[in-house]
Amino acid sequence: MTIKRVAIVGLGLLGGSLGLALKEYCPDIVTTGYDSDPETRRRAAERGLAGTICESASGAVAEADLVVMCVPVGAMGAVATEIADALPRQAIVSDVGSSKASIHAAISAALPEHIVIPAHPVAGTEQSGPDAGFASLFQHRWCILTPPDDVPEEAVAALRTLWEALGAEVEIMSAEHHDLVLAVTSHLPHLIAYTIVGTASDLEDVTRGEVIKYSAGGFRDFTRIAASDPTMWRDVFLSNKDAVLEMLQVFSEDLTRLQRAIRRDDGDALFELFSKTRAIRRGIIEMGQDDARPDFGRSDHEG
Ligand code: NAP
Repeated sequence: MTIKRVAIVGLGLLGGSLGLALKEYCPDIVTTGYDSDPETRRRAAERGLAGTICESASGAVAEADLVVMCVPVGAMGAVATEIADALPRQAIVSDVGSSKASIHAAISAALPEHIVIPAHPVAGTEQSGPDAGFASLFQHRWCILTPPDDVPEEAVAALRTLWEALGAEVEIMSAEHHDLVLAVTSHLPHLIAYTIVGTASDLEDVTRGEVIKYSAGGFRDFTRIAASDPTMWRDVFLSNKDAVLEMLQVFSEDLTRLQRAIRRDDGDALFELFSKTRAIRRGIIEMGQDDARPDFGRSDHEG
């Protein structure tokens, strides 16, 4: 099974990056793209995010071997319904959504006869829209595939080969396990960042000007995450509710333990935890998942 024609639905950060990456690393693959926003379609055509920008989702998928839905998580089911009649029977349907079990359920309900292989490239920035994408977004980043048991192995292999060609490292796991892992590595950190930034902006005794002025003390690193797209993150929390709530419970208990250690002047407990977390940071850098430089090397990608 070889993928020769890819349709991308949703031409924002992820869809645009996918289109640009395909153009750069798989130039023989023919791409079509569609976005519901006419202004995004216009900009996508200008930037060449896909070979052909279509006026409808059906038009974009009509000859595809692979469709990748790059829309907000809450819109996946509606897009699947929209393309159902036009989609070739043998086409593989995939997505890039940040949660997996509920997306798989929504897509399969609309496309029960098709091969559906959910995917999540664990790569992104806090930017969104058709100007945000860049071809190297997936380089050296993990892409998690969550194929259901009954999907043909050749289809999984074809999708794996494609993501590897774009520079990603592919891992396969169940949708449920993905949702639990991402709840702790991505969704909970976003929830914490949204909370801290919200709390700081609501304080009465510290002015907003002071919060911004002295942000280098740590706060500004949270603001980067808390600037992420509101639509995307609303949908992520609602679609991965159970795993997020489970991790939030564990987190609340750990926070209570820390509160107790501070109240009791238990320096050993604090030191032990902070030493453990430092080792995790070192592990992330050693695995090439972040950069040791103070700006995390981001200026290389984002200007
Ligand atoms: P984005 O930049 O906002 O792009 C999404 C695009 O989809 C927008 O242009 C949006 O148009 C369009 N769209 C919405 N509903 C549509 C529909 N029914 N049909 C066609 N187009 C539609 O968002 P993104 O960051 O690329 O996120 C897309 C997906 O990637 C999400 O599922 C997210 O969970 C996942 N993801 C994101 C990241 C990240 O860091 N951002 C990382 C990994 C995975 P409008 O703006 O007009 O709504």
